[in-house]
Amino acid sequence: MTLPCIALIAHDQKKDDMADFARQHQKALSRFRIVATGTTGGKVQEACPDLQVTRLRSGPLGGDQQIGAMIATGDVDMLLFFIDPLTSMPHDVDVKALTRLATVYDIPMALNRATAEKLIDFQ
Ligand code: PGA
Repeated sequence: MTLPCIALIAHDQKKDDMADFARQHQKALSRFRIVATGTTGGKVQEACPDLQVTRLRSGPLGGDQQIGAMIATGDVDMLLFFIDPLTSMPHDVDVKALTRLATVYDIPMALNRATAEKLIDFQ
C-alpha cells in the first residue's frame, strides 16, 4: 500500500518552528511519504533522523513550483506551509501559485502552525 504524501515548506523565519513541529509529530509524519523544499527538508531531516524526507529544490530556486506540479498530478495529499507574512520574498509569485494549486485541487493546506497542529491530529 502506498502511503499518502505530505509536503512541508517553511520560510526562513519559520524553519525552527517546522523542525520543532516535525519532532513533536514524528509518529504522525512517519505515516506519510514526506517531500519538502531543500532547506526545510534538511532541517526536518536533521531534527528527525528516522524520517525519510525527499528534498526538492530550494523554494526560491523552484521547489515551491515542483510541489505545485506534484499537486497538479495528484502526487501530494496534504500541504503544510509555514509562511512568513512579515518578509518580502523574491519568489512571492511561486508561493501564490502553490497555494492557488492547493486550492484548485482541494487538498488540505495549513499555512501556519496552529492549523497544521489541527490537520495532523486528524490523521
Ligand atoms: P527552502 O524553501 O525550504 O529551500 O528554504 C522554502 C521557501 O522559501 O519557499
